[in-house]
Amino acid sequence: MPQPTALACKDGAMIEVTLLGTGSPIPDANRAGPSTLVRAGGQVFLIDCGRGVLQRAAAVGVGAAGLSALLLTHLHSDHIAELGDVLITGWISSFAPEPVPLPIIGPPGTAETVEATLKAFGHDIGYRIAHHADLNAPPPVEVHECTEGSVWDRDGVTIRVAPTDHRPVAPTIGFRIDFDGASVVLAGDTVPCSGLDGLAAGADALVHTVIRKDILTHVPQQRIKDVCDYHSSVQEAAATAARAGVGTLIMTHYVPAIVPGQEEQWRALAATEFGGRIELGDDLHRVEVAARQ
Ligand SMILES: [Zn+2]
Ligand SMILES: [Zn+2]
Repeated sequence: MPQPTALACKDGAMIEVTLLGTGSPIPDANRAGPSTLVRAGGQVFLIDCGRGVLQRAAAVGVGAAGLSALLLTHLHSDHIAELGDVLITGWISSFAPEPVPLPIIGPPGTAETVEATLKAFGHDIGYRIAHHADLNAPPPVEVHECTEGSVWDRDGVTIRVAPTDHRPVAPTIGFRIDFDGASVVLAGDTVPCSGLDGLAAGADALVHTVIRKDILTHVPQQRIKDVCDYHSSVQEAAATAARAGVGTLIMTHYVPAIVPGQEEQWRALAATEFGGRIELGDDLHRVEVAARQ
């Protein structure tokens, strides 16, 4: 298992970020779909739930029943590919007599997506309720749709949301998780925008999805070129990190996948715009984020 990279230096509280899935929409033998795990103050947040997320989470000792909340940046298929697995597996692997509903925080459209997913698994849910005496109701969920503002305040962990710009996918949101002076912002897919700038201002770390526009613009298929319209390049994500004055940029959701051995090339592109610490890597890359002094 990769060793965590310790950042900043303050005793005590920190936020742990694990890149569960760093892949793109194209299946990759070595990269799961976009998902990030954030652990803070004993709480566990899953941000997006791309392909293979629960297998990656199992590798760091996290099960679906152990999530404090599921946070969705947007409803693109690659970011919610395993929503059904998270809902059903969390339900059948929770043995609490009164299971706590899973909070799901996402943009408008999330409730409809969750409802439709539960409907798609309706036969399965029916089989299990019929078979197990202690399962009497479908997976309990508590969906909060929002585009801006405070969405979580529990035991020292607060979460704020702001709109991002991934049009024509809309609305889309980014999350800022604060715990005991440390803060991590999760941008999701977005072009540079004022909503993200405001959310990320002064944060200790920014987790940002990135694409290589310098490569994708040379691909012959227009559909691939289209991807450039609504994502940030490595340099644009790095410039956002610089404008916001964050301490660390954590890049993920690499499009195209990083060719083994070319990590330093991606890092160098980010370094043209951002002078802070730059993290990137394979699935399960883990970064400890402490408050900067
Ligand atoms: Zn997207
Ligand atoms: Zn995406």
